[in-house]
Amino acid sequence: MNLGKIVPIAGFPVHETTRQDLAIHLLTTLHQHEKISLLFANSNFVVKCKSLLNRMYNDSVLIVNDGVGLDIVAKCLHGGAFKANLNGTDFTPYLFCESSRPLRVFMLGAKPEVVEKAAEHVEQRLGQTIVGYCDGYSGLDDPQMIARINQSGAELLLVALGNPLQEEWILNHRDSLDVGIVTGVGALFDFWAGNQPRAPQFIQKIRLEWLFRLCHEPRRLMRRYTVDMLVFFARCFKYRKNPDTNETSDNPLQADY
Ligand code: UDP
Repeated sequence: MNLGKIVPIAGFPVHETTRQDLAIHLLTTLHQHEKISLLFANSNFVVKCKSLLNRMYNDSVLIVNDGVGLDIVAKCLHGGAFKANLNGTDFTPYLFCESSRPLRVFMLGAKPEVVEKAAEHVEQRLGQTIVGYCDGYSGLDDPQMIARINQSGAELLLVALGNPLQEEWILNHRDSLDVGIVTGVGALFDFWAGNQPRAPQFIQKIRLEWLFRLCHEPRRLMRRYTVDMLVFFARCFKYRKNPDTNETSDNPLQADY
């Protein structure tokens, strides 16, 4: 996969790229009938997906950086922040715009009423073709679910189950899915459905979207942005000092340390 340099973050191979290059790469992959799994790594991903790390060393898995936490670590440990901040919420509509034709999209995840409203938004406002959708609370591992997605003819599967459920689901089912691009998008369907507010642009610009979300859902997110954030930084710095502590001794990036 030729998509610029890889920056190791707590052992995760994070690709440093721009949204333009990423979109071109994905659309080319689609055109060539290849399969790709796109994962957005934020600090929560690094903490919650630790046990999945070795399974992510796979040519078809592409991890990109999401959020200020990864930039801080990249600056401290690798001498500079990432070129761009990539997240599923902003990147997915951008990918739609970059495609020369509407993409065939299947949406999996969130509550039934949320995914239904989000699917309407994607079709009516974002001009894509919805070939199916299903909530994220029933029959996720049922073989019929995989058959339904495959029969839909989807080119892009959006999986919105949160970390680490969505990453685990993608890794478990990727081989059986006949879909070009599969990506984990977290709370995206809630934003599209208007169920969760998105932070205003200026808050996003000063990189405080996490604080905005914390203020809206303090109970659910308090741990994520306090204890888990400390775990994230501790894990990144510990890994920098001693890569072997991450149980990834067979991973090729350890040579970078
Ligand atoms: N979700 C789901 N099934 C589950 C658990 C969560 O479909 O078993 C959905 C949830 O309804 C929400 C999405 O996963 O729409 C992601 O939520 P979260 O806010 O954790 O995403 P993030 O903050 O990581 O972007």
